[in-house]
Amino acid sequence: MTNDCLFCRIVAGEIPATVVHETDETLAFRDIGPKAPVHVLVIPKEHFTDVAALAVADPGLAGKVLAACAAVAAAEGLTEDGYRVIFNAGPHSGQEVFHVHAHVLGGRPLGPMVSA
Ligand code: 5GP
Ligand code: ZN
Repeated sequence: MTNDCLFCRIVAGEIPATVVHETDETLAFRDIGPKAPVHVLVIPKEHFTDVAALAVADPGLAGKVLAACAAVAAAEGLTEDGYRVIFNAGPHSGQEVFHVHAHVLGGRPLGPMVSA
C-alpha cells in the first residue's frame, strides 16, 4: 500500500470504484473517463510503477493481470468482436497514474492503434 497512490487507495477501499472483476491478487474497475463503450482498468493489488517493474519483479503476477484482462473482456461480451489491451509506461505514453494498469477497451471499432 502506497498512501499517495490513487489505485492503492482504490484497492484499500478508500476511494470508490465500479469493480467488475476481482481475484486475490488483481482488481478490475471501470475507468472514470471512458474512451470506449467498455473501458476497464486491470491492476495487480500490489503496487508496481509500470508494466516493466511488474514483469521484472513478478512475471507470474504479470500473467495473472493478463488473464484478468481476458476474463474481463469475456464478461463484457468483447471476445467475438475483439478488444484492445494497452499498458502506458513513461512520459511518451502519457501515463498519468503510476500504479501499473492495463486498459481493456472495446465495444466499437477502435480505429488506428495510435493517433498521428
Ligand atoms: P494512464 O494515462 O495512467 O494510462 O491511465 C490512467 C487512467 O485512470 C485514465 O484513463 C483515467 O481516466 C483513469 N482514472 C483517473 N482517476 C481515476 C479514478 O479516480 N477512478 C477511476 N476509476 N479511474 C481513474
Ligand atoms: Zn499503487
